[in-house]
Amino acid sequence: MLIHLRMSGDLRLAPTEEARDRFEHTLFHLDNGWDLRFSDARKFGRISLLRDPTEFLSQLGPEPLAPEFSAEQLAKKLAKHKRMLKPLLLDQSFLAGIGNIYTDEALHIARLHPMRRSDTLSMDETVSLWEGIRKALEAGLLHNGASIDWVYRGGDYQHHFRVYGRAGEPCMECGNPIERIVVGQRGTHFCAHCQLEVRE
Ligand SMILES: [Zn+2]
Repeated sequence: MLIHLRMSGDLRLAPTEEARDRFEHTLFHLDNGWDLRFSDARKFGRISLLRDPTEFLSQLGPEPLAPEFSAEQLAKKLAKHKRMLKPLLLDQSFLAGIGNIYTDEALHIARLHPMRRSDTLSMDETVSLWEGIRKALEAGLLHNGASIDWVYRGGDYQHHFRVYGRAGEPCMECGNPIERIVVGQRGTHFCAHCQLEVRE
């Protein structure tokens, strides 16, 4: 069974006798008197029961927090594409599990422009990107994720964003205002001072 939480999906444990709330669309009765409950206010989430999940999972790129995912592996993958970093990182067949928020945060940590072409990165820049991706994801995990609207009971990572949703506010590295542009049809937040479009 594969569960994709999407925007507002949430899993929680509750005693079976507890009344379900209106967003709890799927209940799994466990053998200990508890339920595993899938709650999803926006109904974007998906639950799939598959005989063989490998076909589905093989469409996904590597898991960036896996111990075996190395900067060298990232370098090889980046070099195979001539795409801008922002849409490439959002492509789930390139890397698994990085969405709009984490892409913007990772690129700011790495000091790389969102429109930088993937096959032009030096090895040092690739290592910075590799670290940036992992640091952004680890920060999200540390704060139990981000709650960007009322529907998700999750964490408070939204109070620690470096760039996402902070257009006009000062960059925490240099003090210049964070800018918002659109790249590949996605709102993109970055610091034009720290993330230069072309590096010398
Ligand atoms: Zn800056």
